[in-house]
Amino acid sequence: QRVLLLAEDRTAAVRLDEVRRDFVANVSHELKTPVGAIALLAETLEDAADEPDVVREFSRRLAQEARRLSALVQDIIDLSRVQDADALLDSRVVDVDAVVTEAVSRNEVEARARDIAIAAPGGSGLQVFGDEALLVTAVRNLVDNALRYSDGGTRVTVAARSGRDGLVEIAVIDQGIGIDADLLPRVFERFYRVDAARSRQTGGTGLGLAIVKHVAADHGGEVTVWSQPGRGSTFTLRLPSADSPTSDSAAA
Ligand code: ADP
Repeated sequence: QRVLLLAEDRTAAVRLDEVRRDFVANVSHELKTPVGAIALLAETLEDAADEPDVVREFSRRLAQEARRLSALVQDIIDLSRVQDADALLDSRVVDVDAVVTEAVSRNEVEARARDIAIAAPGGSGLQVFGDEALLVTAVRNLVDNALRYSDGGTRVTVAARSGRDGLVEIAVIDQGIGIDADLLPRVFERFYRVDAARSRQTGGTGLGLAIVKHVAADHGGEVTVWSQPGRGSTFTLRLPSADSPTSDSAAA
């Protein structure tokens, strides 16, 4: 029995090591793209100093690549934090409507630019036990995706309600491009994208949903997705309510 256990531990350790190495390889690859572009654009700018149109265009692209780099670094920091078992060290009772309001307000500029209305009725009065900043990050990532993959859609809805088993549900509903059924389970993997070019063009890092998944798990909850290509997607975050007995174990 003991030998078997040790063998299993070893397999798990080897697998963990592989996952870690894969992640570092992926991160290096993802970082190289904007860093290389920034270097190239800066050199070109130097050569084109007396051509105002070129300077303007290349400065714009330089800023864009710098923003992408900064988003990637921020997501890597967020992800490494939520993968840590101590992520919820400073948990407290959190107002779900406040989380939704904050997440929506951080996406307002993007929504206006895309001509999409975000409906967030609020007033649920629900509470969860957890880390407010991480919960805002999770909902913000879902709303950000809903906007970025919303071709043709004019509305994104964020609804909080009391769901089954005493869980609090926060649903982010879009009318966007949707996701093929066979790809659905993969979207929560780090750096998995259905369409990499589109993700990058719209400022995606491929880490948003991996962060959401970990935030949900850290709170003793889960995130699920329903989607239909061409009709839209609904991502639902389910979290133990602050007054349900299970929330104590989630906080431990
Ligand atoms: P990204 O930065 O690429 O958006 P995410 O981890 O947030 O990374 O999402 C992974 C992939 O899942 C996206 O690249 C996209 O293909 C798909 N996806 C996520 N949210 C949606 C959505 N609301 N509608 C359609 N596709 C989505």
